[in-house]
Amino acid sequence: MKLGFLSESPADEAAIRILIEAVLKERTSEVRPPLRARGWPNVLQVLPAILRHLQFQTDANALIVVVDSDDTIVHEADHTDPNKFHPHCRICQIQQVIRKTTKKWRLPGGRERLKTAVGLAVPAVEGWYLLGKDDEIGEEGWVNGLKERSKPYTRKELKRRVYRTVRPSLHLETRIAKAEARRVSKLLKKLEESFPIGFGSMIREISQWERDDYV
Ligand SMILES: [Zn+2]
Repeated sequence: MKLGFLSESPADEAAIRILIEAVLKERTSEVRPPLRARGWPNVLQVLPAILRHLQFQTDANALIVVVDSDDTIVHEADHTDPNKFHPHCRICQIQQVIRKTTKKWRLPGGRERLKTAVGLAVPAVEGWYLLGKDDEIGEEGWVNGLKERSKPYTRKELKRRVYRTVRPSLHLETRIAKAEARRVSKLLKKLEESFPIGFGSMIREISQWERDDYV
């Protein structure tokens, strides 16, 4: 498969590609979008141009979008259902931009529609990288903490635990993120159990891809 990735940093994109290859059980080739996002909400701003580019200027099969939730709500429902749209849920916001951007597209004959899958790292992608190393970390504890206004840990602490510094260089960040993604890619079931909304919903969208091909 030919995939494009949109995330908040090139280090995350490299690591997420490793996880997605484990999910798909196949190697992928990467189609580089012409733009990069620099954090949220820039992801939302560059997303329409990236969708258009991948669909009409490349032969990419799919785009994977993953953002951090930071302190925003982690909405529990089908984010791809417009009737269950939650205005502060980042997955819902991204899905809405995808719907609006692609709604009226007319594709050239023979070109398949670009598939998409959206993930939300709660509260940051470093939480995924700590899977199996720190059982305190996962969506349930984080969501309960947000409700009670006492976060069990901070994003800074997650960074420090993963990179041993809160300000890693891009080189260090990429090297460690890829190594952790390779480790975690052997624990996909556990990753989905610990992050059922943000990782789980992305996996469910991907598992829908194959079915879409036979419709
Ligand atoms: Zn949502």
